[in-house]
Amino acid sequence: MSPLQDTYRHQGQRRALARELRRRGIYDERVLAALEAVPRHLFFEPAFEAHAYQDKAFPIGEGQTISQPYTVAYQTQLLNVQPTDRVLEVGTGSGYQCAVLLRLTAHVESIEFNEVLFRRTKAFLAALGATGAGLHCGDGSVGLPDKAPFDGILVTAGAPGLPPALLRQLRVGGRLVIPVGDNQAQRMIRVTREGPESFVREEFETFRFVPLLGASGWRA
Ligand code: SAM
Repeated sequence: MSPLQDTYRHQGQRRALARELRRRGIYDERVLAALEAVPRHLFFEPAFEAHAYQDKAFPIGEGQTISQPYTVAYQTQLLNVQPTDRVLEVGTGSGYQCAVLLRLTAHVESIEFNEVLFRRTKAFLAALGATGAGLHCGDGSVGLPDKAPFDGILVTAGAPGLPPALLRQLRVGGRLVIPVGDNQAQRMIRVTREGPESFVREEFETFRFVPLLGASGWRA
């Protein structure tokens, strides 16, 4: 990992990225400020740092990716995180989305299925000083019952359907943001729990994610 340096040049690149995201339709200034604050280049190997402020996904090893900044901003905007919210992220990956969520609320849990990524990212986030999140290793397609209920659940891998356990772990008023589809494309879905048995589903843009594995995901 690179020495953890954030320079004026990097900050300027993040401002330019935020302008680009605004131009593409991201309007929540809290989300844009969060992306401007998190040094995305530090989540890259030094040799690939030049890719950090381009609006694209990038491999992080283990066949996984750090999501495109537009996707991170889009999902975070849909989640509509309030400062007192308790949020669960499914798919910690590089830890970048987790660090963005930590700018919006101090109450973040994040779960990663891949043990190699889990261990690497846990150590990296500690070195970065982004220590506020509870990090877990396991199948996030069944949520995190011990820490439920959540005001927001954000899934960063493509699911074949809505995982029932994630719906159950939403607080009334809580939102689940999850890409759902096949292995080619997934529609971004937001489900809001409006009452104990009442869920409202909205559909948004189409994306392409790595697959969600596990009990309510795709077969490994
Ligand atoms: N949020 C990540 C970031 O900011 O770098 C991007 C993650 S990547 C697009 C999706 C991640 O979901 C991968 O790291 C993958 O291992 C993880 N994943 C897939 N199925 C999972 C499951 N059932 N539970 C937890 N994590 C899962």
